[in-house]
Amino acid sequence: SLTGTDLHLSFGQNRVLRGVDVHVDAGATTSVIGPSGSGKSTLLRVLNRLHEPDRGDIAIDGRSVLGDNPDVLRQRIGMVFQHFNLFPHRTVLDNVALGPRKLRGLSKDEAHAAALAQLELVGLAHKAQSRPANLSGGQQQRVAIARALAMKPEIMFFDEATSALDPELVKGVLALMADLAAGGMSMIVVTHEMGFARTVSDTVVFMDAGVVVETGEPDALFDDPQTDRLQTFLSQVL
Ligand code: ATP
Ligand code: MG
Repeated sequence: SLTGTDLHLSFGQNRVLRGVDVHVDAGATTSVIGPSGSGKSTLLRVLNRLHEPDRGDIAIDGRSVLGDNPDVLRQRIGMVFQHFNLFPHRTVLDNVALGPRKLRGLSKDEAHAAALAQLELVGLAHKAQSRPANLSGGQQQRVAIARALAMKPEIMFFDEATSALDPELVKGVLALMADLAAGGMSMIVVTHEMGFARTVSDTVVFMDAGVVVETGEPDALFDDPQTDRLQTFLSQVL
């Protein structure tokens, strides 16, 4: 499990996180929803320590990780962003194999075998020797997911992983994410896809202006919002 407790972060005068609590159980999926600028991406970056929180704690399996080297935590968390930033001049296989070679110390053959296995998992083994530019956006995002999985993370973070995709490509990526969740991956998913948040998540967190306004099981949260802010948000996005 991963737990963030009372997380605060300011950029200058801008108090972006103002005491956020977030939790994901081992094998569970927590979705984070909320308006633009509410601090969702910043929360993920604090949770994997790309930003150090001004206050609060981050714990894995109940043990605080803030005393550890941040690289140690980052290796335990796989991240997938809206813009996937694959290396354009390398093959799909190399894109997936590079991290395990450099950071997990695998030999070239080991890394390539592991990368191919991950590509099979995302349905793209047949594209192993292609360049990213010759893949659709949805396929490129699935390669980015394979690249993150190749690092054998304990937890996956997704930040608007489908927002940059053409509508007809969104479904395939969401289906892959749902498969990962069903397979027992622990995931925190920042998303505008309310259908995904509702059907795949164990817990939904609604953030606004740097605080968690509501959190709960998806059906309760979507069917019976307790605050005006969530009601208004849902009326705009559903
Ligand atoms: P969106 O749905 O548009 O992606 P978000 O909920 O992910 O929004 P964040 O990207 O976390 O929102 O931004 C929250 C606030 O933090 C914004 O006011 C933003 O300008 C500010 N912010 C984010 N990153 C930085 C940074 N590196 N330096 C300064 N301010 C930042
Ligand atoms: Mg964001």
